[in-house]
Amino acid sequence: MTPAARHEVFARLQAADPNPSTELEYASPFQLLVSVVLSAQATDKSVNQATAALFRDAPTPEAMLALGVAGLATFIRSIGLYNTKARNLIETCRILIERYNGQVPADRQALESLPGVGRKTANVVLNVAFGQSTIAVDTHIFRVANRLGLAPGRTPFEVEQKLLEVVPEQFRRHAHHWLILHGRYVCISRQPKCPNCVLLDLCEYDQKTGNAARPARQRRQAVRRTRSRAPIARRKK
Ligand code: SF4
Repeated sequence: MTPAARHEVFARLQAADPNPSTELEYASPFQLLVSVVLSAQATDKSVNQATAALFRDAPTPEAMLALGVAGLATFIRSIGLYNTKARNLIETCRILIERYNGQVPADRQALESLPGVGRKTANVVLNVAFGQSTIAVDTHIFRVANRLGLAPGRTPFEVEQKLLEVVPEQFRRHAHHWLILHGRYVCISRQPKCPNCVLLDLCEYDQKTGNAARPARQRRQAVRRTRSRAPIARRKK
């Protein structure tokens, strides 16, 4: 994809949604961190349902630590891997209190040293809570970047590095949300909604859905096949 096409991709995504944001509900960097940890292999909706009660009763690291692993687990039981996540979060609360005065550090290395916090989670927290131009590559962004030809790569890390290299500076802060929302609602995994996609003419994916996206030669072949079947259909009546 050319630099001009990449610029156009983000210009269109920005025009459609000038101020994108996470769909996770939170009121502090700590609550965002907890939500992102819980969202691994879970939907944002299911996380929001669980954290509504959790953040009401335990909005801070101190209050969450007081719940203990078993107490926290009762709030997040509807979320996959809840036992492991409860153990990691209680340990995270303890570290935040002991080392960071109960605050979430705005530092990648410190974040990634917390239990259950990997590069993707750290990127989301740095971007959303601290306004850094990081790009967290999840399954949606990995798919969209490869299909579009925006930043092809074999691993999430490769795609992340490529995106950081090629996304124009002015779009980098929100690139993560634009791509994730595009992947979640338009360029979905099994059946991308290509005919409704604002990026259709820029996209390099060779298996687009919908008649309009087929190359002219394929469209002509499809029309010929339909015509050749028509007399047989009429004879059967
Ligand atoms: S045209 Fe289709 S494959 Fe390409 S980005 Fe849009 S939805 Fe995804």
